[in-house]
Amino acid sequence: MRDLAGQMQQRRQDGLYRSRKIQEGMQGVELILDGKPCLAFCSNDYLGLSHHPQVIKASQSGAQEYGAGSGASHLINGHSRVHHQLEEALAEFVQRPRALLFSTGYMANLGVMSALLQRGDQVFEDRLNHASLIDAGLLSGARFSRYTHADVRDLKSRLGHQRNGDRLVATDGVFSMDGDLAPLVDIASVCRSKDAWLMVDDAHGIGVLGANGRGTLEQLGLDDTDVPILMGTLGKAFGTFGAFVAGSEALIETLINRARTYIYTTALPPSVAAASLASLGLVQEESWRREKLNDHIKAFRQGAEQLGLPLMASATAIQPILLGESERALKWSEALWAKGIYIPAIRPPTVEEGRARLRICLSAAHEPQHIERLLVALESVMTST
Ligand SMILES: *Cc1c(COP(=O)(O)O)cnc(C)c1O
Repeated sequence: MRDLAGQMQQRRQDGLYRSRKIQEGMQGVELILDGKPCLAFCSNDYLGLSHHPQVIKASQSGAQEYGAGSGASHLINGHSRVHHQLEEALAEFVQRPRALLFSTGYMANLGVMSALLQRGDQVFEDRLNHASLIDAGLLSGARFSRYTHADVRDLKSRLGHQRNGDRLVATDGVFSMDGDLAPLVDIASVCRSKDAWLMVDDAHGIGVLGANGRGTLEQLGLDDTDVPILMGTLGKAFGTFGAFVAGSEALIETLINRARTYIYTTALPPSVAAASLASLGLVQEESWRREKLNDHIKAFRQGAEQLGLPLMASATAIQPILLGESERALKWSEALWAKGIYIPAIRPPTVEEGRARLRICLSAAHEPQHIERLLVALESVMTST
């Protein structure tokens, strides 16, 4: 048997050990973690909807009306009226014929690829895709190929050799660790010319990007003919939990019939669907949340540039500070923690070796003085570590 304790000890020495902090009370940007009050810049709750009174209320009434759990998978008797309403509302929101709820984004990605691909097919993925897309591709049984990050020429040449099977290109819309956007206009045109499906995982774009919050595709002016398969998650900007895939009637019916992570799992609780429905209303009605977030992004980048911090080319709520070695990222994170600011260090294998970073996530739940406080703390950490 392997020495698990010894391996974990080694991990500690390498600065790669991961552990959790316990959070007390309500979700938000001011938290109590391990008993200590702090200001957090790490959650994906980009619009501050996780603790919105209307969303909480909808979750409560959903539980009152439907019960605490869904009772079964969607295909048995777990598909309630409110799940169905949410699917219809999501489809309308992203302007596609149909949408299908999954319990998580991870499962949605696995489900799509397991339903569409088989041995003899090919899947092409950006090197920096989220782990769930990578795992989905590896598990699909299709031949797996990773192209250089955001490199359309590399993708095109890999697609060059036509084979017999089907081909699927999958990419994050907004890259989760770098915050940059995939060059989707060019990727879509390459996919069209090479007769490949295109799937976009818009976990960090949906709700946040585009004038109406419809995500990266709205921001870049793309529709369902450009990107036939859209995946969005509800645990980030929507502040709740779950995910959906949106596309054609035939795509959704195929997923209902063939996606293993849809068929062989309990439907998410109806109260969660009710909360997401309330959240979707707020995403559409309260565009001030996106505007406020964009003001924070601008203020943060301006301040950080003045300080000479190693920012990356990101225009989104994900603003990494690239520090290199894991040890260095940990030191910065610990120094900030000592000042009551929580930003975990992101280290390999989540990012490539030598590209450890602080991944700052901004939210509409932050106030301008929070951004100020962050910049002041970063300046002092920068000069002292
Ligand atoms: C968070 C995330 C997922 C997983 O979504 P969950 O609903 O949390 O399982 C998938 N893709 C990307 C790009 C993500 O950032």
